[in-house]
Amino acid sequence: MNYEKIIVFGAHPDDEITMAGTIFKMSSSGKKVIVVTMTDGCEGYSDPEIKEKIVEIRRKEAEECDKVLGISKRIMLNIPDMALINDKETLKKCIKIIREEKPDAIFTHGPCDNHRDHITTHFITVEARWHAGEPVSSELGNPWYTPYLYYYKGILSGLPSIIIDVTDVEEKRYEALITQVSQFKIFRKNKEDFLSEIEFIKKYRPKRTEKFWIADKVILYDFLPI
Ligand SMILES: [Zn+2]
Repeated sequence: MNYEKIIVFGAHPDDEITMAGTIFKMSSSGKKVIVVTMTDGCEGYSDPEIKEKIVEIRRKEAEECDKVLGISKRIMLNIPDMALINDKETLKKCIKIIREEKPDAIFTHGPCDNHRDHITTHFITVEARWHAGEPVSSELGNPWYTPYLYYYKGILSGLPSIIIDVTDVEEKRYEALITQVSQFKIFRKNKEDFLSEIEFIKKYRPKRTEKFWIADKVILYDFLPI
């Protein structure tokens, strides 16, 4: 995980919190962490009264989360929640981001998930990482091959490739969750619950890890003379 710059793709404005400890460890040691949020989170309202305001609320909550975790830049594609599709336009936007940012590693959702936006983010980013390294769609920038691709959730089987010990920074996950006020009913926890979790963690430091699965390399044998 000794990377200078990573991109974390997430379907919704809070998905990256799954790997909050790793993000904070990297950002606090001077590494650049860029988050690409595919959707605007417009379906994440548990109260109809905030339906019209939820996108703006979640954008501000994401900004607060960026400060807590030291995220260098968040790029929001603002596609409506539950409406993300693997279309050409979105794929090209992701290729362009990868070519412009030139990350050492990409983190994204795995393929096993109930949420359509999570699964779609998986397929878009896996393909965008590959296409970004190919000499195609040259108006999107020079090819950039990102050597490492990891899944940070959405995997049902198989041992993780990397396990990061985040025991020493685990409270950052809860500080990040506290910024997501509009999601408290969905989390089934509130600020007081998170604060008491932080107190517990600071007192007892239970061992906590974050797990990552490295994606298989894709090789197009049909172009090779074998
Ligand atoms: Zn999500």
